[in-house]
Amino acid sequence: MPADLNLTVDRKPLQVVAGTTAAQALDAAGVRDAVVVRVNGDAQLRDLAYTVAEGDRLEPVPLGSDEGRAVLRHSCAHVLAQAVQDLFPGTALGIGPPITDGFYYDFAPQRPFTPEDLAAIEKRMQQIIKQRQHFARRVVSADAARAEMAAEPFKLELLDLAYGPGSGGGEVSIQAAAEGASMEVGGAEITMYDNLLLPKDAPPQRVWTDLCRGPHLPTTRDIPAFSLTRSAAAYWRGSEKNPQLQRIYGTAWESREALKAHLAKVAEAERRDHRKLGAELDLFSFPDEIGSGLAVFHPKGGVVRREMEEYSRRRHIEAGYEFVYTPHITKGDLFETSGHLGWYADGMFPPMHVDGGDYYLKPMNCPFHNLIFAARGRSYRELPLRLFEFGTVYRYEKSGVVHGLTRVRGMTQDDAHIYCTREQMRDELASLLTFVLDLLSDYGLDDFYLELSTKDPDKFVGSDQDWDDATRTLAEVARASGLELVDDPGGAAFYGPKISVQARDALGRSWQMSTIQLDFNLPQLFELEYQASDGSRQRPVMIHRALFGSVERFFAVLLEHYAGAFPAWLAPVQVVGIPIAAEHVDYLREVAQALVAEGIRVEVDASDERMQKKIRTAQQQKVPYMLIAGDTDVGAGAVSFRYRDGTQKNGVPVADAVAEIVEAVRTRG
Ligand SMILES: [Zn+2]
Ligand SMILES: [Zn+2]
Repeated sequence: MPADLNLTVDRKPLQVVAGTTAAQALDAAGVRDAVVVRVNGDAQLRDLAYTVAEGDRLEPVPLGSDEGRAVLRHSCAHVLAQAVQDLFPGTALGIGPPITDGFYYDFAPQRPFTPEDLAAIEKRMQQIIKQRQHFARRVVSADAARAEMAAEPFKLELLDLAYGPGSGGGEVSIQAAAEGASMEVGGAEITMYDNLLLPKDAPPQRVWTDLCRGPHLPTTRDIPAFSLTRSAAAYWRGSEKNPQLQRIYGTAWESREALKAHLAKVAEAERRDHRKLGAELDLFSFPDEIGSGLAVFHPKGGVVRREMEEYSRRRHIEAGYEFVYTPHITKGDLFETSGHLGWYADGMFPPMHVDGGDYYLKPMNCPFHNLIFAARGRSYRELPLRLFEFGTVYRYEKSGVVHGLTRVRGMTQDDAHIYCTREQMRDELASLLTFVLDLLSDYGLDDFYLELSTKDPDKFVGSDQDWDDATRTLAEVARASGLELVDDPGGAAFYGPKISVQARDALGRSWQMSTIQLDFNLPQLFELEYQASDGSRQRPVMIHRALFGSVERFFAVLLEHYAGAFPAWLAPVQVVGIPIAAEHVDYLREVAQALVAEGIRVEVDASDERMQKKIRTAQQQKVPYMLIAGDTDVGAGAVSFRYRDGTQKNGVPVADAVAEIVEAVRTRG
């Protein structure tokens, strides 16, 4: 008679006999939707086949949860690898972790995969799923694992990295060695996962095996919906020195509907991709002759950018900022003083040797602004001193991570540094956050949350008192804003706490926008001082603050947020005049003159195309207003509006039409 075990299942007590699996215990407790289980609060989840022990606390993890989806996606990666090895025998395996919204698996095939290959692989995966193969965990010794993986050179390397001599062993060393590889190895035990067919009247049949930590879904049949998305080259362990592998990406979801919704969202994101829109709307490009991550803005993109900058400039003047200009290169001494050459050299372009010294392209503006502060004695009466610059900086990004305008090598920051007294810090931060949120809203982003990054207790400069003061102030200011506040404990840079504003765009994606960063380090390194009212010399508090982050990145975010249909005040061309026939061109030119006199950007389409074609062109260019004129309009001194959404308003007197457009632009409509 086996002894009874006392468990807690989904927070309720349950007695079971020894040898019971998690699946049976959950079933007995009436829990139906779990795909894996958390035992005793462990970070590492377990298969449902786990045999329970006395006192175990089981928490079900459903398929539709974040963790459930990760298990689903990783299980799907196994199915992918099995399908690839079925169709392309001898293909060696890399790693296959779950990622945000999906999974991938790396392979070393004879040749890169084609779209036809992906279709065939997907079909084979469907068959594997239908077969209801069971994922079965098996603990092995390191030697046995090596023997089983003898034909898999990359898996052997992972085993050596995680458990070989000098590895240190376990999870930490494997994460450092190969990002994503902790799915395979790194646990306390080495485990293999077998895919088993369990026929009714025959012994179990092993059809495939992978080195893996798990956990997995009970069977392949538990994968409700998946899709392969693309393949791309990827270096083994992320290093160009290693062999190039082929990575197949896919996604998997808890239902067909969830998969469909996800694919629709991806398609919409592709439709809005700023790189695609940038070319279609003739806004900017990245000429090969200039180099990776270095954009040129074309006239139309130039208009959008100028309007973005001008509005920001105006608001900064109103808010008491003073404008400064600093050069793009500097002697290395400056970045020695600031410490950048010590801890940021990898992010900088290598030096130019001139006049027997090293000059660097600047990756940041702050040290320059500090020199302006230090150029003469400062009195408390001058504080807060707010220095602003559209400062162009250059950062060395690996060519693999450069991406459109969002990750570039040359960018212009809307960069400000505020120097204030300790007593002014609180008010300054409060008004700063309000200013930042107001200004972002004016560009059409209005769904925000805040993230507060606080001290890493092992890595910081400055006194505890300073950190406590600043952190408390930032937290109070953040709470007073009424916005959702997410804590990022230990996430601050070593030199001070930070608040960042995260904005959600029209697709619900979060973008880190503005940062407000306290700095206790630079004022000390640059020995910045001001004379206090009592005559003593004091060190100012320094706040770094970029609102757009970079103009380029903000441009990309807005472009995608609006899907290219900028509000009228930002649109490169605000109005297109479309004559019904050639004889109406002159009339529309007069209307255009009236608009130009009000500062409106207007074109008259006098080409030989038919009217319908002209309307289509203006629509494709996402021009906010079309003004159409034919005989009736000319006779009445009027025009007909056609808006971007296709609606129309006929017979509007010219003066009213001009007023409507001017008003929309003035109010940033
Ligand atoms: Zn696995
Ligand atoms: Zn700065």
